[in-house]
Amino acid sequence: MIKGQTAIVTGGSRGIGAAVAKRLAQEGVNVAVVFAGNADLAESVCEECRAFGVKAEKYNCDVSDFNAAKELTAKVKEDFGTVNILINNAGITRDGLIAMMKEKDFDDVIATNLKGVFNMIRSCCSIFIRNKGGKIVNMSSVSGLMGNAGQVNYSASKAGVVGITKSVAKELAPRGITCNAVAPGFINTDMTKNLSVDPEEIARAIPLGRMGTPEDVADAVVFLVKADYITGEVIRVDGGIAM
Ligand code: NAD
Repeated sequence: MIKGQTAIVTGGSRGIGAAVAKRLAQEGVNVAVVFAGNADLAESVCEECRAFGVKAEKYNCDVSDFNAAKELTAKVKEDFGTVNILINNAGITRDGLIAMMKEKDFDDVIATNLKGVFNMIRSCCSIFIRNKGGKIVNMSSVSGLMGNAGQVNYSASKAGVVGITKSVAKELAPRGITCNAVAPGFINTDMTKNLSVDPEEIARAIPLGRMGTPEDVADAVVFLVKADYITGEVIRVDGGIAM
């Protein structure tokens, strides 16, 4: 029963994160919507969540900053009373071929996508341990499972997320805390809108014949949040592309 619990959703202002925040709100979960850029977008996601009768507030935080993540978690705990669910969804791409990739593009992607996940779990886990329970869902990617030309930095970060997920799952299982990951394929969001490949060509390469929606991914996230006997698992939501 997740009704009445509190979730932190990073990167909750748009795309997959916004869909996850709204699906959780639909289940009666109070939501802290974490955003990095657009406060108006985050506020409109909060309004849509509140329409389900839950509490929803927005928080500006760069998850790659260890101290900022710590302060964010403390503030959410103060505002909501506790934290029960952590959705590590914030992520960026800085694509480029390995022979040309700038050091900063490698470092920035690792800082947000991988260290950000560490920072948030690190800051929430003591609350979960005290509560004797908690649910963590991390956003990986099929790029992290299969590799992808032009995404050395992103694939490394998302493979790292799988490693964090399984290690945290093993460490915190005795405390009643689960940690799982979702690995989306091609999902229709701002992240994929400027791909150099023709969308129809992408759809043809996907066994189920279409790109995914943020709601397709949100359904898997909420499934994992509700599941009590699944931990250390990685669920692909990719229309079959990584089979
Ligand atoms: P998006 O670009 O629409 O949204 C990303 C969100 O993360 C935004 O709200 C942004 O503000 C936030 N964010 C970025 N850097 C941040 C930081 N340092 N601190 C806090 N927030 C930050 O992307 P999306 O497609 O919705 O992606 C969501 C997650 O799903 C990402 O982790 C992404 O890597 C992963 N993913 C997406 C796809 C896809 O096809 N769209 C595929 C596989 C995995």
